[in-house]
Amino acid sequence: MKYPVKKTEQEWKEQLGEERYRILRQKGTEYPHTGTYNLHFEKGTYCCGGCGEPLFESNSKFDAHCGWPSFDESIPGKVEYISDLTHGMKRTEILCANCGSHLGHVFDDGPTKTGQRYCVNSLSVDFRE
Ligand SMILES: [Zn+2]
Repeated sequence: MKYPVKKTEQEWKEQLGEERYRILRQKGTEYPHTGTYNLHFEKGTYCCGGCGEPLFESNSKFDAHCGWPSFDESIPGKVEYISDLTHGMKRTEILCANCGSHLGHVFDDGPTKTGQRYCVNSLSVDFRE
């Protein structure tokens, strides 16, 4: 693939550990309401759990009551969008544009002015103040 950050599966496994590897590299989903950042509203930046690239600012985060951290926009150019037709649904998968790690999905039913709801796994991101 065309991502600037490239690692072998083995390197990803060693770096991320089992649970994050499952989410970030195998497109897994954490259980709702379990993630560290679900109800986390500190001021700062959410960075990719795979490569550290800044992806979302805290001022775009809102409580969507869906059990996962939700944002109404990403930092421009940092997120890649891919059509996802698995599980009998038509969804848009979001990935880190820098390393290709899976972040979650984006939906167009957001309640704010952007109309977008980026639904992100807590394990896919690291918060920095
Ligand atoms: Zn990344």
